Amino acid sequence: MPRTTDRDDTLLCHLGTHPDDNHGIANPPVYHASTIHFPTLARLEEAGRDRFTGVTYGRYGTPTTFAFEEAVAMLSGADKAMALPSGLAAIAVALTTFLKAGDHLLMTDSVYEPVRKLCDKILAAQGILTDYYDPTIGAGIAALMRGNTRIVYVESPGSLTFEVQDIPAIAAAAHGRGAVVVADNTWASPLFGKPMNLGADLVLESATKYVAGHSDVMIGFIAMRDAEYEAVKRQGHGLGYGAAPDDCYLALRGLRTMGVRLRRHQETALALARWLGGRPEVEHVIHPALPDHPGHDLWRRDFTGASGLFSVVLKPMPRPALAAMLEGMRLFAMGYSWGGYESLILPVDPAAVRTARPWTMPGPVLRIHAGLEDPDDLIADLSLGFERLQRSGLHA
Ligand SMILES: *Cc1c(COP(=O)(O)O)cnc(C)c1O
Repeated sequence: MPRTTDRDDTLLCHLGTHPDDNHGIANPPVYHASTIHFPTLARLEEAGRDRFTGVTYGRYGTPTTFAFEEAVAMLSGADKAMALPSGLAAIAVALTTFLKAGDHLLMTDSVYEPVRKLCDKILAAQGILTDYYDPTIGAGIAALMRGNTRIVYVESPGSLTFEVQDIPAIAAAAHGRGAVVVADNTWASPLFGKPMNLGADLVLESATKYVAGHSDVMIGFIAMRDAEYEAVKRQGHGLGYGAAPDDCYLALRGLRTMGVRLRRHQETALALARWLGGRPEVEHVIHPALPDHPGHDLWRRDFTGASGLFSVVLKPMPRPALAAMLEGMRLFAMGYSWGGYESLILPVDPAAVRTARPWTMPGPVLRIHAGLEDPDDLIADLSLGFERLQRSGLHA
């Protein structure tokens, strides 16, 4: 696409399309491939030398992959992107590209939980040491840096508890000691957050969430500058990772409507958060766009919007009361992941997965994803849920 604008809504509609290369077809087609044919010895040899950009073997990507990568790179404010089979695969590739035995990793304590297993089991077995830090540490991260600290990893807002991180301050400290800053930007998506502009060197996302947006695709990506691209690609290729062409197609298709979807997720989540804040069963609502959130000022400084995911802490209650609420929901499903069109409600346990900054609130925590349904219907569903909770609580 000719570079005529920086405005994301326009970019979303046009990035990665190359109709002139595809019979005028608006959407880049799905190229399924393992074998690629080379008509001459010279072309075969050339392909062997250029595994990073050309179409050489199915695992290294097809024009469908490259269209998706082109789009998410530009939206992220990066030079290049690499598509990977999941968000977790993107994290694994980003970390292992830069870490070797003897290196030290500083990991935010409210990281997406499966990353802890990657660090504490797989990376640890390779001689890589992970220390978890308080996500709100800011410039104080400097005191945790060691001579061998190679990566400082941020995820803002954090998983489950939505701490907003001071990425510019953390990046300044990390870069001062020669470390690479890797940022998980899944919550904000490239529309509401641009960590590259805040000092991150690599930005990764689970595009499974808002980018694909329909609860039916697993895909991730890493966005980066030209300087890091070859090392990251070599690592991803070396591990045998390639995003599937159908999934790249669906993720690119999801991007086209992400602007309107995300604003609706934002609006509905705020409406639900405010309503929940007025309920007697609720102890505390955790949503970065609410003024009482401890990271609200940082969120205002560094983000241009809030997505549809937040948490609510309930007052302590017997388990059957919680079950009565959750098991009768008509619109909110209980399930993992988020970012799709439908609303989700999930009991989560931050206390079980924090090591640097203990979680001390005693009541149950519910993570809520506001879907695209009518907000009044969602509020009615929650309201009936609280009625069931109250009734069951009385009998407990
Ligand atoms: C879901 C998620 C991931 C992992 O993405 P998958 O595509 O499910 O592998 C990573 N980071 C965050 C913040 C997530 O929410």
